[in-house]
Amino acid sequence: MTQGRVTIPAEGGKIYYHNGTIQVPDNPIIPFIEGDGIGPDIWKATSRVLEAAVNTCYRGGRKLWWAEVFAGEKAHTIYGEWLPDETIETIREYKVALKGPLTTPVGGGIRSLNVTIRQRLDLFAAIRPARYIPGVPSPVKHPEKVNMIIFRENTEDVYAGIEWAMNTPEAKKCIAFIKDSFNVAIREDSGVGIKPISIYGTKRLVRMAIGYALMHHLPSVTLVHKGNIMKYTEGAFRDWGYEVAREEFGDSTVSEAELFARYDGKVPPGKVVIKDRIADAMFQQILLRPDEYSVLAMPNLNGDYMSDALAAQVGGLGLSPSANMGSEIAVFEATHGTAPKYAGKDVINPSSLILSGVMMLEHLGWQEAADSIVGALERTIRDKTVTYDLERQLPGAKRVKCSEFASAVIEKM
Ligand code: NAP
Repeated sequence: MTQGRVTIPAEGGKIYYHNGTIQVPDNPIIPFIEGDGIGPDIWKATSRVLEAAVNTCYRGGRKLWWAEVFAGEKAHTIYGEWLPDETIETIREYKVALKGPLTTPVGGGIRSLNVTIRQRLDLFAAIRPARYIPGVPSPVKHPEKVNMIIFRENTEDVYAGIEWAMNTPEAKKCIAFIKDSFNVAIREDSGVGIKPISIYGTKRLVRMAIGYALMHHLPSVTLVHKGNIMKYTEGAFRDWGYEVAREEFGDSTVSEAELFARYDGKVPPGKVVIKDRIADAMFQQILLRPDEYSVLAMPNLNGDYMSDALAAQVGGLGLSPSANMGSEIAVFEATHGTAPKYAGKDVINPSSLILSGVMMLEHLGWQEAADSIVGALERTIRDKTVTYDLERQLPGAKRVKCSEFASAVIEKM
């Protein structure tokens, strides 16, 4: 079945929601964006691994049906535009998608396609787990103590794109308005940016983070903010976060303050502890006491920095998966970019997209298939069968191509 330029497999079924719960048929249609640069290499490797895991675990009882949708250079060739409406609408309709990296075209005023996809589909949470895979070279002494998952607000904060360059009429008008209305002086030779953080945006993000902690029986959710300085944005993020916990999860959460005031510091069984940390202190904590943290919820900019710092602690971007989630739609994607110098060379590490595919399988409720990939990938790396990026740091390792790495993972399932 072809809609526009997208071919929908006739054998597939639609994922949908019923009373707020995802309903996944045994033959779900999954739109995918191959991506630019190294995208085709890592997509081929990833789709082979995912299909093999599903086949091994369900013996034909379940199957993924891919539907290619286009963005980036391929879309430009086919449609003459970088991000066709058909791509957005197909993902909206089928609810779950897997995405390779996309080049942000330089110049011409084109915004990042990745940011545009997140905004158009209102994917308000960027979810980034950081967990150590044994054998991966790490810059810290105890990477195995890191097991955290970041929920980063994806739509607000200084990323909302409300900013004006120095000396533009907009910046001048803004500076004059602030002076006239509030008697607050800003140097005239300033660029101006606005940092909106709303109660709505904060609460839906923290709600998702706490829900995740409860569903996965995790010990704590930490609100990471810079509220000591930015009281009405970051400070409010903290206050609204505690409010969601109290008002919507009162029976299943306890704040850190309450824990010491009422429970002698011992967590009552089944309760998730809600705590908060100031962002700069938190960067120390993830290095010094990583095992005290589990789920982290934070505004956009803090989340951006923290995700890469944590990814580095456990072995870098080549191994770091991610999901962008809205209330119903989820797009799973590699965290790295298109690494153009390796395009078409079949050398790059496909683990980031493979592990994003694992997150996708977990989202579908296909946990057995997800677990079988993680186990096989861990065994492959433990045996030192790795792509160039890890091989150059691992004495005695066997260097394999991207496609060979995928084959090694499949063999170990
Ligand atoms: P990049 O593509 O992430 O690559 C930077 C370097 O990181 C590579 O040269 C390579 O390092 C390493 N690397 C990245 N992916 C790897 C993998 N899978 N396995 C092993 N090593 C990996 O960053 P960039 O060069 O700054 O960005 C290139 C383009 O990607 C830009 O157009 C940018 O806008 C876009 N981008 C897209 C996304 C996205 O789609 N979500 C995210 C970030 C950037 P070595 O050279 O040391 O081997």
